[in-house]
Amino acid sequence: MQSLEALARDARALANGDVVPALPLTGAESEVARQLQICNACRYCEGFCAVFPAMTRRLEFPKADIHFLANLCHNCGACLHACQYAPPHEFAVNIPKAMAQVRGQTYVDYAWPPALGTLYQRNGLTLALASAAGLALFLVLAVALHGQGLAALWSTPVGGFYGIFPHNLLVGLFAPVFLFTTLALGLGVRRFWRDVTPATSGAPLSAPATAEATNAVLRLKYLDGGHGDGCHNEDDAYTLARRRCHHLTFYGFVLCFAATSVATLYHYLLGQPAPYDLPSIPKLLGAAGGVSLLLGTAGLWRLNLRRHPEHGDAAQKPMDRGFIALLFLTAASGLALWAARGTAALPLLLCVHLGAVMALFATLPYGKFAHGIFRTAALLRHAVEKRQPNPVGLGAD
Ligand code: SF4
Ligand code: SF4
Repeated sequence: MQSLEALARDARALANGDVVPALPLTGAESEVARQLQICNACRYCEGFCAVFPAMTRRLEFPKADIHFLANLCHNCGACLHACQYAPPHEFAVNIPKAMAQVRGQTYVDYAWPPALGTLYQRNGLTLALASAAGLALFLVLAVALHGQGLAALWSTPVGGFYGIFPHNLLVGLFAPVFLFTTLALGLGVRRFWRDVTPATSGAPLSAPATAEATNAVLRLKYLDGGHGDGCHNEDDAYTLARRRCHHLTFYGFVLCFAATSVATLYHYLLGQPAPYDLPSIPKLLGAAGGVSLLLGTAGLWRLNLRRHPEHGDAAQKPMDRGFIALLFLTAASGLALWAARGTAALPLLLCVHLGAVMALFATLPYGKFAHGIFRTAALLRHAVEKRQPNPVGLGAD
């Protein structure tokens, strides 16, 4: 059976003389399609998240629709714990796992350049820590060779950390990494958007849809389980811990980024170079962001270790943990740097911190961060699609 929208698409294509063959599904995509056919008959989970209302607008699940739905899911586990057809039932419905496997595949499919996406998927934690260690070592060698050997690594620098790495050198190191990350994420999400837009009504963004999706992203609305008591982690109990740790991590990252942006304005517009101390705005933002990031990532790490084995895709755990570890290392080394100001430990700590920040930004497009970007795009498309007439007319939005 085909949805009316899909039939109309095919009819238009035939009328124009373009026959668009359906793209073949991968094994993971076929499994999502199989499970969603069961869910579409059951519909018990309609109120849990955005995935199920979006599912009820479809009677079949081509590739782009599956990519859209997989990125709309955020692996809260609610539908697994509620499902009467979950393993060991012969239907073996495990939506969080099936969706996570397709999501992992989309991170690789849409990654730019593609080879890096595959690399990070397989070795996430090792690659993240090895990059941070390698870059920190590179900076340690630079300090040792430029100063008076190893003694330069344990000495109080004149002029703070710009006495160790001049400002222009830091800009020269970080600007290309930041631009590369922005380009890679931008190209990836543009391809995703182009693929899923025709599958989600094709209608353009509107102000109400954008406002609704932004609200859902900023509040992490769907991590409340659909009823406000939270989602699941290691068992059937509801918990808000995942939502709170995600909030601490997300807003911690935003505050740290804001601290760096304000510090750049201080430097170039006000002629006030770093370091800054309390109660300056960059320091207030950075200190609050660093503590929030530290608490959030420590909580996420603990939750990740205890996570129910049937939630999500076990093969992606190294990637998830690599991202959490780099965020934690960035926050911890940043706060340690502040505590060590004016001491001989500053050069070594600065190398560790800069190595962690650089590795974090270089790997952002290929890990869990990409989930946040693709999910935001999927929520935007969902908010647009739900405002269009339901092509099936059987479900309630
Ligand atoms: S996950 Fe299970 S309970 Fe929920 S809609 Fe699908 S089949 Fe029904
Ligand atoms: S795991 Fe959560 S977000 Fe994903 S489909 Fe199930 S209820 Fe929705």
